[in-house]
Amino acid sequence: MPRYAYVNGRYLPHAQAAVHIEDRGYQFADGVYEVVPVYQGALVDEGPHLDRLERSLGELRIAMPVARATLELISHELMRRNDLTQGMLYMQVTRGVAPRDHRFPATARPALVMTTRQTKPHGEALVTQGIKVITVPDIRWRRCDIKSTALLPNVLAKQQAAEAGAYEAWQVDGEGYVTEGSSTNAWIVNAEGKVVTRDASHAILNGITRITLLKQIREAGFELEERAFTLEEAKAAREAFLTSSTSFVLPVVAIDETPVGNGHPGILCGKLRAGYLDYMASLEDRPGGMA
Ligand code: PMP
Repeated sequence: MPRYAYVNGRYLPHAQAAVHIEDRGYQFADGVYEVVPVYQGALVDEGPHLDRLERSLGELRIAMPVARATLELISHELMRRNDLTQGMLYMQVTRGVAPRDHRFPATARPALVMTTRQTKPHGEALVTQGIKVITVPDIRWRRCDIKSTALLPNVLAKQQAAEAGAYEAWQVDGEGYVTEGSSTNAWIVNAEGKVVTRDASHAILNGITRITLLKQIREAGFELEERAFTLEEAKAAREAFLTSSTSFVLPVVAIDETPVGNGHPGILCGKLRAGYLDYMASLEDRPGGMA
């Protein structure tokens, strides 16, 4: 069965799907994207992901390429065509195709691309042994709340992590506070047992996994602080973990080779991960279903 991609109104075999060389996404990274996880056949938090897409577009003054209901229809149709049960749906919207000029084009129409990727659940070792992170200076622009396709600092940070044998790079701002990972949000459980994660601002991408987990943490009654924490505090923490649409909740056991807590995945992190997986398994937004 061929794998399809959606490109500006057409479902095309993935290998033949292409955009114009003067698409502003290609030339200026003038666009935004979303990654929606798919778990046991269901889209996870589709509504909040589309809310964030609309917000990112609004901040950049790019119009929605199609109505929101149409976006949902295309998502479900692409999942159906690709028989997607586990993995992710990727959507990208750019300001469109126009002769190269920094100024907004007068006539270009926003361009929409969607792809899916089937992935296996990540190896149990990541969960049972935990992962390492390194740290890098946060050299990004000051609107990290916009999910822009301009990801060079994130690409460089993730590559540096990979070359150091680490899963992720936590970015640290000029004052010594951790902002977030290159593609994940950063969390600690501090010495007093409080869960701490950076507050949502222009300094981080407000992860959808982050938002869902915050709700679950509040509902479970765990102590929580949304504030910046220093790298020093993170290294002295009892536990650390990260969240994202593709990693879910993963325990961090070392930061720059300094073991976190006893160097093993934390108990609270384990509970939060289990709770998050239960939540995903309970979702019913399956293509062709009523949701
Ligand atoms: N921060 C950054 C910089 C990211 O790229 C991502 C992943 N898109 C996240 C955090 C996590 O966001 P989400 O939970 O929505 O995947």
